[in-house]
Amino acid sequence: MVVKLNVKTIRDFDFNNKKVLLRIDMDVPLDNGVIVDDTRLRASLDSINYLLDNGASVIFLLGHIGRPGGKPVPELSTKVVADWFSSHLSVPVAHVDSCFDFSLPDARVVVLENVRFFQGEKANDPVFSEKLASLADLYVNDAFATCHRSHASMVGVPSFIPGCLGFNVLKELENLSLDDAEKPFIAVLGGAKLSTKLPVIINLSSKVDYLLVGGAMIFTFYKALGFSVGDSLVDDDFIAKAKSLLDDPVISKKIVLPSDVVVSSFDEFSSSFSNTRVVSYDSIPDGFKGLDIGPEAVNKFKSLLSFAKTIVWNGPLGYVEAEPFDKATVSIAEFIASLTNNGVRTVVGGGDSLKVVNKLGLASAFTHVSTGGGASLLLLQGSELVALKALEKWN
Ligand code: ADP
Ligand code: MG
Repeated sequence: MVVKLNVKTIRDFDFNNKKVLLRIDMDVPLDNGVIVDDTRLRASLDSINYLLDNGASVIFLLGHIGRPGGKPVPELSTKVVADWFSSHLSVPVAHVDSCFDFSLPDARVVVLENVRFFQGEKANDPVFSEKLASLADLYVNDAFATCHRSHASMVGVPSFIPGCLGFNVLKELENLSLDDAEKPFIAVLGGAKLSTKLPVIINLSSKVDYLLVGGAMIFTFYKALGFSVGDSLVDDDFIAKAKSLLDDPVISKKIVLPSDVVVSSFDEFSSSFSNTRVVSYDSIPDGFKGLDIGPEAVNKFKSLLSFAKTIVWNGPLGYVEAEPFDKATVSIAEFIASLTNNGVRTVVGGGDSLKVVNKLGLASAFTHVSTGGGASLLLLQGSELVALKALEKWN
């Protein structure tokens, strides 16, 4: 997939003998100081190796881990990231315990301390940005998962030194660009709230053939149709909006709502769900909560998906955190994965969807699984990413 870009990429700059500030996604999950999932660090290796091969004199790796809140939190130090790179790069890697004010170590790759230890980062403070920028000659943004944040390391730095995109951001943009997606093109959308998915529905509705809808947002649609939804989650402020989508002659033909749902009643005494059963969408009993889409809906979704050439999936179809309400999500995820490579392009976006895919060990079974939660959602809704915008002046 080719994207139209109005920014420079890492291939357009000459890095020979240049100091480079490379912003990457370092926000890896940690358990007792050990990296549990290194996907994000791996995603930056192509850009780092390219910069090394193309003569960069020093590469400063900049990023954040967690939410330290603008002050040093020792457990969130990037030291662990520096150790990881030491064992994954063929050149010496050093760690410094600041983002500036340090004496330059004798290493070609220098991992700077967690940029969110400084208040200037989230505040996008120009003085802070200028200090970061003064480290280097050139800036490369390869931190896709942070591209929707207008923080100093994302948008401030490239106002001072020339900046471009790295390979990881490029790959995400190429895979999440769906303007010329081959048809039939089907989107599977789940998740908790219609309010957060509405912009995605509206943007995709002009591109797809079908929008298969699951997750808790189906109950807002059912309510808009006048059905009773028991104790299911409903976005009350969005019932009118749901109604207008279902009244829209074009969008309504594309939206497929589940014909059956899995419901359950919450037992306060044992604080667990009981009386789990499958019911028709129009007969959810009082006192019951809809927690997954039903088997008939899953079969209907699969029969439509089997004709698709492009599939985009965002958002769990049910309450995946508890069995058996993860059933439809797991079944559809495995089905989409099984279609991949038979000429079918399959793309997964969204933080919780990524968690499901990783839990099932299916990350490599799709054409592309986005590593950016919020940023991928913004692309799916057709919005601009602030950090890309900030690079346009160097194009
Ligand atoms: P993503 O991060 O992939 O974009 P969302 O954040 O929109 O996905 O939604 C994920 C959440 O939606 C999950 O925590 C899941 O439990 C919840 N969810 C989906 N269906 C239901 C449901 N029927 N009832 C309650 N929660 C649901
Ligand atoms: Mg989420």
